[in-house]
This record gives sequence, structure tokens and C-alpha cells, in this order.
Amino acid sequence: MSRRILLFGGTFDPPHNGHMELLRGAMAAVQPDLVVVEPAGTPPHKHASATPAGIRLAMCQCFLDVDRQILLDDTEILRGGKSYTLDTVNEMYRRYPDGTLYFSMGSDMLLYFRKWHGYRELLQKMVLVVHSRRGEDVQPLHAFARDLEQEGGRILFAPARILEISSTQIRSRVQRGEPLDGLVPASVEEMIDRYALYQPEEREV
Ligand code: ATP
Repeated sequence: MSRRILLFGGTFDPPHNGHMELLRGAMAAVQPDLVVVEPAGTPPHKHASATPAGIRLAMCQCFLDVDRQILLDDTEILRGGKSYTLDTVNEMYRRYPDGTLYFSMGSDMLLYFRKWHGYRELLQKMVLVVHSRRGEDVQPLHAFARDLEQEGGRILFAPARILEISSTQIRSRVQRGEPLDGLVPASVEEMIDRYALYQPEEREV
């Protein structure tokens, strides 16, 4: 039987409890043999992340609290330039030729999926494991998933708690000096403090 490999990509600037919940839900749904967490170099759809890749990678150590066996991978960071999921997926199949690839994502990413580079090929090459980010988007989400299935896609909905948390929200809270209680793992909060991340830019006078 082929090995089930769960790939979890993101900018992770910073990782937060929504990501932790997504990962737990995806792991429960897929029961993977291997989990690979893949922080993006420069994500194609976002501005270059201001936080050095090495710090984002280090913050991703929090995912080991979900499972000690998780592999933190730096393929996209080392590749440099824009991070296309298709390149990473092809790399995973080179590394694990006997694998079946599952890719976990939040609902915002699914709704944007047709804009992904090589999306038709991606639909053939991986099973999408989707986690809702907001209660109200469930209906259009399922309709959209059925459309993608018409194109040959395989989509699983991971039953998990919805946590309306985003990295953008975390960065703004830090900038405004607001507490992060319950929003990020303790190790991430420590690193945000240690490296003084997300501080308001100093203005020259
Ligand atoms: P930003 O606010 O900077 O855009 P983000 O919070 O969306 O960041 P990413 O690192 O871009 O975080 O997300 C990685 C993956 O995790 C994406 O598939 C995204 O949809 C998913 N995700 C992020 N936050 C949540 C959440 N609260 N619940 C479920 N999935 C989430």
C-alpha cells in the first residue's frame, strides 16, 4: 500500500493556533504515515515576508507539539524565489515515489485554487484536505469543491474546530501591544518577544 504523506505549506509568519487546529484535523482525517511542514520561501500570492525565513522555520517547531514525528522541511526556503506548490509536490514525489500526497489548506486557499500555478496538474497529483476558516463559508465551499471534483480533483473536508485566527491579526496585535493569549503557542510568543518581531516601523525624524 502506498504511504500517505500529508503536506502542510504556509507562510507561517507567525504560526498560530488556527494552523495547529488545521494540522490536528487534517491528521485525524488522513491518518498519514508522514507529515511534512513546508514554510514558503516567497509565497506567489503574497508580498515577500518581512520575517527572515530561518525565524519562520524555527517558529514552526511548535508543530512538533502536535506530533514529534513531523518533518520540518526547508525545500522551498532553500530553493529561493517564488514558492510554487507544484515544484514542491514534484519534489515530494521524487523523494517518496511510493507516496500518495495529501495537501492541507484553509478554505480561503481552496476558493482561490484555480489561480494556483498548474492547478489542473495539482488536482491530479494530490488530495486536498480542507479546513473551514469561517462558519459562514461552508455552503459555497462545498459547491466549489464539487466543481473541482468535476475536473478530477479529490477533496476531503477535515472535521475540526473553526478558529478565526490569522497571522495578519497576530502581527497587528503585536504592533498595537495587545496580548496574544490563546492565539499562538507559547513557544511562538517567546520567539516573537526574543526577536522583537512585528514591531511598528521606527520613523526617522
Ligand atoms: P496571513 O494572515 O499572513 O495571510 P494566514 O493566517 O492565512 O496568514 P498562512 O501561513 O498563509 O496563514 O496559512 C497557511 C495555511 O493555513 C493556509 O492553507 C491557510 O488557509 C491555513 N490557515 C491559516 N489560518 C487558518 C485558520 N485559522 N483556520 C484554518 N486554516 C487556516
